Amino acid sequence: MIANRGEIALRAVRSCRALGLASVSVHSEADRAAPHVWLADQSICIGPATSTQSYLRADALLHVAKETGCDAVYPGYGFLSENAEFAAKCEAEGFVFVGPIAGTIRDMGDKSKAREIAMRFDVPVVPGSETAFVSATDAEAASKEVGYPLLLKARSGGGGRGMRVVNKAADFGTTFADASREAESAFGDGAVYLERYFEEVRHIEVQVFGDGAGNAIAMGERDCSVQRRHQKLIEEAPSPALASEVRERIITSAVDLAAGIGYRGAGTVEFILDPTTDEFFFIEMNTRIQVEHPVTEARVGLDLVDLQFRVAGGETLPNLASIIQPGGHAIEFRVNAEDWSNGFTPSPGRLKKWRPPTGQGVRFDSAAYEGYQVPPYYDSMIGKLIVHGKDREDALAKARVALDGFVVEGIETTAGFHRRLIDHPDFQNNRVHTRWVDIKAMKELT
Ligand code: ADP
Ligand code: ADP
Ligand code: MG
Repeated sequence: MIANRGEIALRAVRSCRALGLASVSVHSEADRAAPHVWLADQSICIGPATSTQSYLRADALLHVAKETGCDAVYPGYGFLSENAEFAAKCEAEGFVFVGPIAGTIRDMGDKSKAREIAMRFDVPVVPGSETAFVSATDAEAASKEVGYPLLLKARSGGGGRGMRVVNKAADFGTTFADASREAESAFGDGAVYLERYFEEVRHIEVQVFGDGAGNAIAMGERDCSVQRRHQKLIEEAPSPALASEVRERIITSAVDLAAGIGYRGAGTVEFILDPTTDEFFFIEMNTRIQVEHPVTEARVGLDLVDLQFRVAGGETLPNLASIIQPGGHAIEFRVNAEDWSNGFTPSPGRLKKWRPPTGQGVRFDSAAYEGYQVPPYYDSMIGKLIVHGKDREDALAKARVALDGFVVEGIETTAGFHRRLIDHPDFQNNRVHTRWVDIKAMKELT
């Protein structure tokens, strides 16, 4: 059973078909005309449009799985993919959860605890507090050791939300209260921890796979430094900012963590890198497939969703390590239904024209089609353009052609922003960091 929607649900249906597995998808009332509905062997409507009434209803999902005779649940990304209770329920009711065991999700979902676990395996973490706090007074005491500027992060946070920068001690109390309140309402947990805030870092993450028996492999890194408000816009591999010796150390750290915790399935270990010192620090582990996984697929020539199913089916990994030989350069652009020239406001509506790019080294993952109505209820991402070339120059040349030829009418998308961004000298010359879009590119490109 595929417990998701959009391109990732569609991709999971395709993997099932390729592997000879029967599939059941689920959909909300708003998603009746979505391809993950008609391409699955069966699809069941689980409720109204709103996620809380459909894709987030653990009990309804498990009921469907039972009634249709499924034996495994595929969570994708977002929704319940990092919900430990859901994974535990799947386990308890005898379904294979296509991901790690519930205990791993729980441990890593507490980002403060994840830091502690990373330290156990000698993975460098961002200097910060040892625990998370609900009391502003206790947190302020810990802030003395961390120093300023510092970053407040929700222990249960995700998706770039629940983070606040504090520049000076005088602002600590009020900012802490804001962060904690926001965390409480977004994640149902007001606990906040502290990290030293780095003004100009890159986001580097490592794709890992584990078999749950202590074997773990890495499939190289991805550089996701082009972000807007802590949300990724462009991801690429290899990172143009890593010396090979640093790359090796960062990958070793990620594998040590994944192997150390006996990780099962696909996961991503995220780091920030200070390019002036080559120091890197663990920030979190995402215990699921990531939006940007095709960047890695392009370079290693493996289908990671297929592999998720195969590992869930009990396949072991050691023989895989020998066939992984990353090659070329890959870049992904997130196409969101947003009006980038107007503060990236959501732009749902009917796709009057939709001609996604194609060609050698050009891949477009999407569940949209001409005439499709982009619903206003879910994440705004409606497609991902992935280009793969022999080197960065080559990949960028393909991206330019692809973005130029991409026709969308009826809604606004971020494709136009990407087209401008790739011609910016800072992007071309690797002078970007995670706040570059917010403090520089936004002003110059809009
Ligand atoms: P992160 O931002 O946590 O590092 P990703 O970049 O892989 O991880 O994106 C995960 C995000 O994708 C979620 O936080 C959510 O905003 C978004 N999302 C969740 N479900 C879907 C979906 N079905 N289609 C598109 N986007 C989704
Ligand atoms: P989320 O769970 O929301 O994905 P992360 O901990 O992965 O949260 O952080 C999201 C982004 O915020 C990172 O990709 C990076 O750009 C930025 N960030 C996180 N920690 C720090 C830090 N200590 N200093 C500077 N930037 C950071
Ligand atoms: Mg993250």
